[in-house]
Amino acid sequence: MPSEVRELRDAWASRIADVPHLTEELEKDFRFGQRISKTERGYLMGGTIKGGSSSMWYPSTKEEYGAYLRWRRIEGILEERDDDALIELQEILDASDVRLNTRGHQGRGNGANGSRENAPPPNPRFGFIYRVARDVLRCLPPSHLDRPQLARLQLGGWGPDSAKASAFSNDAVLMYDFAIRGAKRTFIGLFLHELGHAHEHAMSRGTRAELFRLYRVLADADAFLGVEFLIDASTRRLYQKFVFNEFLAETYLIYTACGAELRAFIESLERPVRRAWEQVYTIFRATFDHLEYA
Ligand SMILES: [Zn+2]
Repeated sequence: MPSEVRELRDAWASRIADVPHLTEELEKDFRFGQRISKTERGYLMGGTIKGGSSSMWYPSTKEEYGAYLRWRRIEGILEERDDDALIELQEILDASDVRLNTRGHQGRGNGANGSRENAPPPNPRFGFIYRVARDVLRCLPPSHLDRPQLARLQLGGWGPDSAKASAFSNDAVLMYDFAIRGAKRTFIGLFLHELGHAHEHAMSRGTRAELFRLYRVLADADAFLGVEFLIDASTRRLYQKFVFNEFLAETYLIYTACGAELRAFIESLERPVRRAWEQVYTIFRATFDHLEYA
């Protein structure tokens, strides 16, 4: 996996020392998709985290605005062109018959079903995303793209309240505005997580049943690995503990982005939990056509 993906295994380093006027509180807000705008009414901080319909804005300052711009230059996704990356991503997707839809371009998006015939050209300013998506997809087994459970990749748009950042629905990986305009790290984590949902949907009934049996051993022992993006690592561990599907999706992300960490984590456990994790790993490796990650 590319280095920016493998960075997910490390703690999310604070930028307070590099960015004047950045505080712990502000950094947390920026990581969670809040932004600061300069308006006729002065500087305002807020965001549309609950979806396009409800946003809250608070007065901010010129110093905080400066901190936001600097933070965004380091950690945020900036709009830029990368036509080569787009062409290469499109080739990868076309080869597996996965449609690409982008929103926020020419005022409106594709039709609801994203039909290729009426689709406008992809937004040319999602350069970073095209590059990362291309690099990630190249590292996955081709079988993960070829299956019917992954039919569409949507970039942009607004999700329902229940899934405002990203979602997997109707064989589509949906990366909403929140995910494609926030921190790079958040996009990468969410993208692999949603690909993980396509993966768990594609699993056979027998594989799922066996994983569920093992998952209960892990849940009883609270033996999950947490990776920090969007929210902190302990909250991401909790998600896994209480929802089996989320465990599977997050394990896909961890298997691909943090291979060595996952193996070391398993190694550090005591039996019988270690044995259960070893079996989970073996099953995942088989579903990755025996591909393992550094
Ligand atoms: Zn999920």
